[in-house]
Amino acid sequence: MTSALVVGSGPNGLAAAITLAASGVDVTVVEAGRRIGGGTRSSELTLPGLMHDECSAFHPLSIDTAFSRLAGLERHGLRWAWADVQYSHPLDGGAGAAALRSVGETAAGLGPDDRAWKQVFGPLVGRFGEITPHLLGPLMRVPRHPVGLCQFGLRAAAPVSVLVKRFSSEAARGLYAGVAAHAFWSFRSVLSSAIGTVLGTAAHASGWPVAVGGSAAITTAMANALTERGGTIETGRRVGSVDEFGSFDLVMLDVSPRAAIELVGDAMPARFRRSLSGYRHGPAAFKVDFAVEGGVPWSHLPSRRAGTVHVGGTFREIATSESMVVRGQMPDRPFVLVGQQYLADPGRSVGDVHPVYSYAHVPSGFTGDVTEAIERQIERFAPGFRDRILARHVQSTAALSARNANVVRGDIVTGANSPRQLVFRPRGGVDPYWIGVQGHFLCSAATPPGAGAHGMCGYNAARSALRSIGRHCADDSGG
Ligand SMILES: Cc1cc2nc3c(=O)[nH]c(=O)nc-3n(C[C@H](O)[C@H](O)[C@H](O)COP(=O)(O)OP(=O)(O)OC[C@H]3O[C@@H](n4cnc5c(N)ncnc54)[C@H](O)[C@@H]3O)c2cc1C
Repeated sequence: MTSALVVGSGPNGLAAAITLAASGVDVTVVEAGRRIGGGTRSSELTLPGLMHDECSAFHPLSIDTAFSRLAGLERHGLRWAWADVQYSHPLDGGAGAAALRSVGETAAGLGPDDRAWKQVFGPLVGRFGEITPHLLGPLMRVPRHPVGLCQFGLRAAAPVSVLVKRFSSEAARGLYAGVAAHAFWSFRSVLSSAIGTVLGTAAHASGWPVAVGGSAAITTAMANALTERGGTIETGRRVGSVDEFGSFDLVMLDVSPRAAIELVGDAMPARFRRSLSGYRHGPAAFKVDFAVEGGVPWSHLPSRRAGTVHVGGTFREIATSESMVVRGQMPDRPFVLVGQQYLADPGRSVGDVHPVYSYAHVPSGFTGDVTEAIERQIERFAPGFRDRILARHVQSTAALSARNANVVRGDIVTGANSPRQLVFRPRGGVDPYWIGVQGHFLCSAATPPGAGAHGMCGYNAARSALRSIGRHCADDSGG
C-alpha cells in the first residue's frame, strides 16, 4: 500500500491527507502543536463560554470547492452561517458603506457609484462558479472559461489605486479599499486588485460565511473525514527532519518554503534550495480579541449587522497605512479588521457579552504593542466601545509565530502577495508543489492558490503527488 507522511495539520495539511487517503494511500499526519488545525482553531480566549477564532474567521472561498466536495465536510458536521451584511466600511460621522449578498442592493446603497459598483462586480458574480476553480489552482494552466477569466484579469491586473478611480464617492472608494487591504500589499502595485476583486465578488456570489461553533469546526470535520478514510494524526511532535521517520512513498510538507529546505536537508537539489530560499514573507498582524458587553456601538448602523468591519477611514488613509507597513513603518492609524462572527453564529456569545475579533496590519516582525492603536481606531467609529470591554486577549507578531511556525514574523498569509508571488508561488516551474526530491511536495499556503482555510493548496499538492506515482485522485474533477 502506498504510504504518506504529512508534516503539519493546518487546513492544507489535512486537505492533502484526506485527498491522498481518499485514493487509498495510508496517511500519517504529524503536528507540532498540542492541538490540530494550525490557522483554523477556536477557543475561549477571553471569558468562559465566549468562543473566539484564533486565526481564520471568514471563509468566502471554502464553500463548494473541489476539495470540499471530495471531503464531504458538511457530512462530517460542518455548518456555515452568514451575517446580514458581509462586510462594511464605517467613515467618520456615522457615514459608511456596506456590502450585501446582492450586488444590486449594495450598489444602490452607494448613491453616485451605483453603476460603477455593478460594472466592477456584476459580470464576475454571474461567472464566479467558472472563475473560482481556475483561481483556486495553479495559475499557469490553460483556462476552461477564458471569457470570465479575462473579465477577472482586466480588473485584477490594475493597481488598487487605479481601479478605485472608477468610484467617485468616499463610501465606495473606502468599501473597495477595505476588501483590497486583505492582500497586505501596496495599493500602487500591479495585480494588487486581484485579492480584493476575488473577495469582493465572493461576498456577492457566496457570501463571507463563518463556521458554526467556531473555525475549529472546519478542523474537526477535516479530522473526521481523514480518520474515516483510515488516516492517523499524531500531535505534540515538531518534525526536525523528514529523515526522523521510516521511509514513506510520499511526503507532504504543510510548512513555509524555508522550513521545507531544513526538513528535507541535503537531498534537495541546489536550484530548488535557491529558488525556495528566495521566497518572501509579507507584513504581519497584531491580534486583539475582546469580550464586549452589548457589542460594538458603531455609529454607522449597517456595521452593527456586519460580519466583518474594515476600520481605517478613507481610501487615502488606508492606502497610506498599507504602504507604510509594507515598507516596514508602523502607522499611527493602522488598518484594523474587526470580526463580529457571533452575529452569524449567536452560540459563540454568553448572554449579551460577545466575542469580538480584531487584528491590525503591522510591519513584519513588529515588536511594539498595538492594542491601544486598535482600540483608538475602533473607538473613532464606535464611540463608547472602550467602556464596553470586559476582557481582552492580545497576540503580538511574536506570539502568533510562536503558536505556529508557518506564521513567519507575524505574516498570517504565508508569503508576500507581491506581483511575482501572486503568479509564481512558491517558485516558477511547471509543478509549483514539487520540491525537487522524488515524492516530496510542499502543500502549505505558500503554494497556489495561497492563503485561506480552503484546503485547496493541500488538495492540489496531493493531486500532484498522486500523479507523480501514476495514480489518479479519487474524484478526478480537477482543481
Ligand atoms: C490571525 C489570522 C487571521 C486569519 N484570518 C483568515 C480568515 O478570516 N479567513 C481565511 O480563510 N484565512 C484566514 N487566515 C489564514 C489561514 O488561517 C491560513 O491561510 C491557513 O491556516 C493556512 O493553512 P496551512 O495549512 O497552509 O498552514 P497553517 O494553518 O499555518 O498550519 C500549519 C501547521 O503546521 C504545523 N507545523 C509547522 N511546522 C511543523 C513541523 N516542523 N512539525 C510539525 N508540525 C509543523 C503548525 O504547527 C501548524 O499547525 C488567518 C490567519 C491568521 C493567523
